Amino acid sequence: MSSDQAVRPGEAEALALDQADPGWRELFDIPPVDSGYYPEIAHFAGNSLGLRPKATRVELLEDLDSWGEWGAEGHFDAKRPWVDYHSLLTGPAARLVGALPAETVVMNSLTVNLHLLMVSFYRPAADRFKIVIEDSAFPSDSYAVRSQAAFHGYSPDDAVVRLRPRAGEDVLRTEDVVAALDSEVALVLLGGVNYLTGELMDIPAITAAGHAAGAVVGWDLAHAAGNVPLSLHDWDVDFAAWCSYKYLNSGPGSLAGAFVHERHLDAGLPRFEGWWSTAAASRFEMAPESRPPVSADAWQISNPPIFSMSPVRTSLEIFDEVGIEVLRERSLRLTAYLEKSLAGITPTRPLTVITPTDPARRGAQLSLRIGGGLKPKELAKKLRFEFGVIADTREPDVLRLAPVPLYSLYHDCWRVVEALAEVVPETA
Ligand SMILES: *Cc1c(COP(=O)(O)O)cnc(C)c1O
Repeated sequence: MSSDQAVRPGEAEALALDQADPGWRELFDIPPVDSGYYPEIAHFAGNSLGLRPKATRVELLEDLDSWGEWGAEGHFDAKRPWVDYHSLLTGPAARLVGALPAETVVMNSLTVNLHLLMVSFYRPAADRFKIVIEDSAFPSDSYAVRSQAAFHGYSPDDAVVRLRPRAGEDVLRTEDVVAALDSEVALVLLGGVNYLTGELMDIPAITAAGHAAGAVVGWDLAHAAGNVPLSLHDWDVDFAAWCSYKYLNSGPGSLAGAFVHERHLDAGLPRFEGWWSTAAASRFEMAPESRPPVSADAWQISNPPIFSMSPVRTSLEIFDEVGIEVLRERSLRLTAYLEKSLAGITPTRPLTVITPTDPARRGAQLSLRIGGGLKPKELAKKLRFEFGVIADTREPDVLRLAPVPLYSLYHDCWRVVEALAEVVPETA
């Protein structure tokens, strides 16, 4: 028995909390363990790929069967007709991110949407061409902005400004982000919740500061959508994009969302177009020029993949029913419990939580820096095969734990802390 056993909250407490605050786990398929004592995995990787809602299989099969039943007529006669299927997703997606329906569209994948939005919103000029990102940006975002700068004829090293935390600190301070926004900045493109550290940025403050500096401000909400409440319209965000396979539980590589603020919808911004950019009423006129609607739908290009949209629709219904504010309340309780439990083992081990301690500055995820020469991948392997705990690691030294308020248990949190206490030796 390790010395910290006595201070760790016990299993009985976790089970009692699950009784009192059960979440919506019955709506999801929880994978069984490969090995380990408990029958179901403790899934802490919902920030990477969320679990499957039970209704997804049923409703996707309905949509698939419409094809068998109707052939081409399914465009109009299917139970959920394909011709305007994407519009079924617009309202729930808009409510989730605090947008008007006209500002929101579900289409493509995340990085593709970032590029399409940068076509409209990254308009560099000789004296204003810089793009500000965080040094710990997800690599896809980093590659995307570098390639956009190069596409416009700028050196990516000159154009892309990478924000680093202060020496000895793990997360960015809002005042330091704001201080970096000068008259050369054309575009600020940050993660709303940082994928690595779990830091929730002050989106309204940074957006306002970017605007005051004359820049356009876009947000990558991959780790924020379905995790924290958002008010993109009221915060005056210029544009945003998010994927739907993390907290939004829509399946691997599923479709992404995009937001364009109302004030840009009719502003004649440049845009790449295809036949889905034209207003629905004009789609089959076969005219040589598009007549785009005054909505984010105008950023669509192709007719969308129905069997990818189906899981997004099913999943968004859950968010609509539960409500992101209610979900956030349980998320705050669950993450606070994980934090408290971790505090029972971290002081004596080479484990440091690098996510902000202020609940207002984080979502569900807690990131741990691992020292003591332990390899994160080895650790994750042990957690999985010895304890049935799925956690996710990022090189070189970060373990990410995301208790997901829809389906994670307090008991899952208890399990991961017990497992870490076992596999991470105490420092002598
Ligand atoms: C998950 C994630 C991506 C993934 O991009 P895809 O285009 O969906 O492959 C990009 N950026 C961030 C910040 C992410 O968290």
